[in-house]
Amino acid sequence: MGARIFRKSIIYGIVGALIGVVYASTAVFVIDPALGIEWQRVHLILAPLLLGTVALLIGRHAEVLEEAKQRFTVLTQQAIIDKTWDVSFEDDYIPTCWEVKNCDKDACPVHGKKHARCWLIAGTYCRGEVQGKFAQKLGSCSKCVIYMEALAHNPVSEISENFYSLMWALRENEDMLGEAHGKLQGQYAELEEHHKKAKEMANTDGLTGLKNHGHFQRYLHHEIDRARRYERPLSLIMIDLDFFKQVNDNFGHQKGDTVLKNVGRILMEECRDVDYVARYGGEEFVVIMPEITAANAMKAADRLRARIESLYMEVNLPEHQTGASLGVADFPVCATDNTSLIAAADGALLFAKRQGRNRVAYFRDLSDAELSSDDLNNLNSRLEGAGFQTIRVLANAVDVRDQYPEHDINNLSRAATAIARELDFSEDQVEALILATKLHDIGKIGIPKKILQKTDHLLPEELEILRQHPQMGEQILQEANTVKDLITAVLYHHERWDGKGYPEGLHGEEIPLMARIVGILDAYRAMRSDRPYCKALSISTTKDELRKAAGTQFDPALVEMFIQQLTDEEGQQLRRVV
Ligand code: GH3
Ligand code: MG
Ligand code: MG
Repeated sequence: MGARIFRKSIIYGIVGALIGVVYASTAVFVIDPALGIEWQRVHLILAPLLLGTVALLIGRHAEVLEEAKQRFTVLTQQAIIDKTWDVSFEDDYIPTCWEVKNCDKDACPVHGKKHARCWLIAGTYCRGEVQGKFAQKLGSCSKCVIYMEALAHNPVSEISENFYSLMWALRENEDMLGEAHGKLQGQYAELEEHHKKAKEMANTDGLTGLKNHGHFQRYLHHEIDRARRYERPLSLIMIDLDFFKQVNDNFGHQKGDTVLKNVGRILMEECRDVDYVARYGGEEFVVIMPEITAANAMKAADRLRARIESLYMEVNLPEHQTGASLGVADFPVCATDNTSLIAAADGALLFAKRQGRNRVAYFRDLSDAELSSDDLNNLNSRLEGAGFQTIRVLANAVDVRDQYPEHDINNLSRAATAIARELDFSEDQVEALILATKLHDIGKIGIPKKILQKTDHLLPEELEILRQHPQMGEQILQEANTVKDLITAVLYHHERWDGKGYPEGLHGEEIPLMARIVGILDAYRAMRSDRPYCKALSISTTKDELRKAAGTQFDPALVEMFIQQLTDEEGQQLRRVV
């Protein structure tokens, strides 16, 4: 570095000397020819010498400044990157300020100290004293004449001063910033905690501490997805306390609250860790049991029922004052998604109530139940808005009740689809027709079992009741918001081509097309099933029977179309058996 300064200074010196030569020559030959020879010599020697020296000094000073700037940049970077606040200037070529300024011991507090180097060679001896805590002394530095002079004459010094002040401010604030950071971290953790609690509260029922309705809906959705993905079973138990209003009315709402809290506790105690318990609303609770089929869920539900039944002792109520009805449904047997699983468990609960309360019912029990019109109304209101999925669930329940062979159900659906395509049905209509083939008898869940299962001829009044099933089916489907085609197909599937059918005695093409198809499919299905009064017919006899009824009971064109499809289905079925 020294060599570089020297080289640059030499160039400055030579240039200065040359200017001196030019000056001397001018002085000798042009300006002052009258001067004697001696003076001329003095000029020739002194002028280049003096000017060269001055230029050398200027060059040296410029170099020092340049080096200082570079140093400054490096130190700045170090300070910022390494957080090295205690920068010092140890380079030997930088003289100490007291040397440069010829300060004596008395005037300079850092006199004799090596660290008091000032790269600007200008009065920062105050800072020299406190290298590393430079700006701390800024106050006293500003009183130092040399320092002030340096600042006044040196822009680099000014920049550096600003830098130091900044660094010091940062350094001073570092603790404060650290403290603030710590505080912020603490507040953030607190906020997180609050957020967690708020979230927890939003998912929790305040009275029982169980999860609430909203959380249950999301959780069930998630669990059903998982059960479907891994093809695992899952059961849902729906619990409704019996005559709970009486507890409130007779013993006060606080007693009612105590019962609800205790029921929550019992459910938590009785369920496995992997089970999920929530308050569905009011005096209704739900339990999700993953990996459990209905048979085991029924056992668990009965345990819950027994615990709730004996709760009256713990809460000081008279006997029989605590009881519950429970409905069980399992995925995928009873339902295809969360909505229909809830509807199924809810339906089962309704039947548990209907059968006398304080008991457990399985959704499939529904197909064996005799329903009153009140029950039907109840069922309708519960199904409201449940949509197709729930209807499918009900369709399965009806199918189970009919004891109809599974493979023929599929045949029937396939034949129905093929006819629908031939008739240019839209996709929605095809879907409605398939559902109608399963659902046309859904209204039979409202017909007493003794009429449905009677082997003798029905009495006229019994026949009258049985003939109400299309309207009952229509009523159920209407409440469940299903498509219009499906509803009319269910309502008119017992109309006849010759006008002698029911409920309205429609004639020929007055009968909606889909209802005409369903009528044929229904007849086929009846003939192919074992019935109390006759055995199932073979496929070819069934076809003969259908042909005989074409034009009287059925639309003849549709009968032919259907039989055509059946031939194919039968052929396929035979091939499969072979
Ligand atoms: P059922 O056997 O048919 O279910 O009869 P029930 O009396 O249990 O049914 P109902 O639906 O008539 O009454 C339910 C009662 O539950 C009415 C309502 O005041 C009460 N209830 C709902 N939520 C709370 C609650 O948080 N605390 C209390 N104490 N009572 C509640
Ligand atoms: Mg209730
Ligand atoms: Mg109740």
